[in-house]
Amino acid sequence: MTSTVVRAPAKINLGLSVGPLRDDGFHELATVYMALDLHDTVRVSSRDDDQVTVTVQADVQEGDEAVAVPLGPDNLAVRAVELLRTAAGITDGVDLAIRKVIPVAGGMAGGSSDAAAALVGANHVWGLGWDREALADLAAELGSDVPFLLHGGVGIGTGRGEKISPVLSRGRYGFIVAVASEGLSTPSVYAEFDRLEPEPEPPRIAPELMAALRGHDTERLGEHLANDLEAAALSLRPELDRVLQIGVDAGALAGIVSGSGPTCVFLLEDDGDAALLTTALWAAPGCADVIHTHGPAAGARIVS
Ligand code: ATP
Repeated sequence: MTSTVVRAPAKINLGLSVGPLRDDGFHELATVYMALDLHDTVRVSSRDDDQVTVTVQADVQEGDEAVAVPLGPDNLAVRAVELLRTAAGITDGVDLAIRKVIPVAGGMAGGSSDAAAALVGANHVWGLGWDREALADLAAELGSDVPFLLHGGVGIGTGRGEKISPVLSRGRYGFIVAVASEGLSTPSVYAEFDRLEPEPEPPRIAPELMAALRGHDTERLGEHLANDLEAAALSLRPELDRVLQIGVDAGALAGIVSGSGPTCVFLLEDDGDAALLTTALWAAPGCADVIHTHGPAAGARIVS
């Protein structure tokens, strides 16, 4: 049996601009992704038969979040390996063991990242030798965020978020992530966006955000974090407004809802601010966990 462990990073959207609805039902997006050190791990082990199995272990989240992760064909990591073996014309099976740390349904693309990691791991244990570009084409079929999770670092996503171009970015940034006790479904947040914003402008990324990343200007980055889905997430979860306020009052440079939420992410000026912010956020309404992490991080990578 061959076995490999792949690191699956979380992502945040430093900028997320949502444009008009397309004929295929997706919105036209322009987004700046950053991969974080916060990660799941996916162990991929070969099998002698054609079965694909998945187990999920959650050791950071409180409550029963792991239960919300499907253990059958709907798991995105399972869909990823099924897609890869069909594309490769093989029938080999695989066991997937996911250690879940990324908040589930938290707007941090945990499922998408597990899928990216499963592609990388299965490609390795089956000895397929596909390059990242070939894997990225499959990744786009699995979900809009999956190609970026293969890519990692900082990237601009256009189209529905699946077309990735690299971004020139210097240095590292510290973040505090406030995890909500209950997830938000991405489609429900987009539906609320459509209600609030029936005729959005074409999506655009603020040049100031790109300049801040180029110059490693943390303060400027904080001023230009932007998420068009934030109003919709706040409309569905009004208490998130309070969470954002608590974080900023406790010293964060800026706070933002991550992707479709409900996770809130706070940019630190200095790692020395982390302890105070963590203590304050633990008392925020509906907060289930507070995590200190950094970015950018690599995309889905084999670690052993
Ligand atoms: P999105 O990528 O749609 O923004 P998200 O980041 O908010 O989603 P995820 O944790 O990726 O949230 O999961 C969204 C849903 O996908 C979950 O509620 C779960 O039912 C399903 N899912 C499928 N596979 C996985 C997986 N491996 N990990 C987590 N959720 C998964």
